[in-house]
Amino acid sequence: MKTIESINTLRKTVREYRSAGESIALVPTMGALHAGHLSLIQIALENADRCIVSIFLNPAQFGPGEDLDSYPRTIESDIKECRAQGADCVFIPSNNEIYPSGFATWIQQSGLPEVLCGASRPGHFRGVLTVVAKLFNIAQPDIAVFGQKDYQQSIIIRRMAADLNFSVKIITAPVVRESDGLAMSSRNVNLTSEHRKQAVILHQSLSFARQAAESGKSPDVIAGVMREMIEEQPDAKVDYIEIRHPFDLTPVDDFSHGAVIAVAVFFGNVRLIDNCLINA
Ligand code: AMP
Repeated sequence: MKTIESINTLRKTVREYRSAGESIALVPTMGALHAGHLSLIQIALENADRCIVSIFLNPAQFGPGEDLDSYPRTIESDIKECRAQGADCVFIPSNNEIYPSGFATWIQQSGLPEVLCGASRPGHFRGVLTVVAKLFNIAQPDIAVFGQKDYQQSIIIRRMAADLNFSVKIITAPVVRESDGLAMSSRNVNLTSEHRKQAVILHQSLSFARQAAESGKSPDVIAGVMREMIEEQPDAKVDYIEIRHPFDLTPVDDFSHGAVIAVAVFFGNVRLIDNCLINA
């Protein structure tokens, strides 16, 4: 497995793969890899000849006061994990490689990034889209794999790929969970043991929501019960609980066109997100 830090070297490697007639999958990550990330690598390898994993803790997608400084960094073990999974190449650029001095071009999307996580984290998706567009340009992947855990991100990236004519197929991979249901996240290691216990309520409230939706309860009623369930946890601070159209993220009054039920909850300064899809 190659470990590459420079854009030029990655481009050279991509040219080598291409001239051998091989297809390329890209798995963008911010590192601190867990089994969720590793599942994306497996899906990448099932769908392409070569898998490039990028590990870049993208400062542009963190706002002031967010957890960039406390975000876990485990680069040595990340590289080992990628090798063990059979990835062909790990791209680990520096901040300066991605945002050299004078950098001034940003990707902005209207609509989808204005709600849910985008409403709580202004500028977040601008940072995500800019780095993902750069990675698509550099790695020229045939496919790119993202997790449903970041559902809004995945549909925003699909929109960008379509709007800007990137010829990349986006695959959205299922959420990988801990045995008690908590969605795996690099941020989970920053939870105190007490908060870790309480955090399982995200998944429990979504499981309730799924059943309630199937038994005909309305989105409003379901969101209300979810809020009560989550707020019963002594340290949970709800950022949002939203039931929305799965493609355009507009609010829905019923489940006739499917829905995404999405939650974001703070425990201390750790913000966790999770979601489930209904009939989508
Ligand atoms: P991150 O390193 O958090 O930016 O995540 C990199 C990619 O891994 C994103 O496409 C995430 O949606 C995906 N991902 C994160 N957590 C999980 C999970 N628990 N299951 C599946 N994919 C995940």
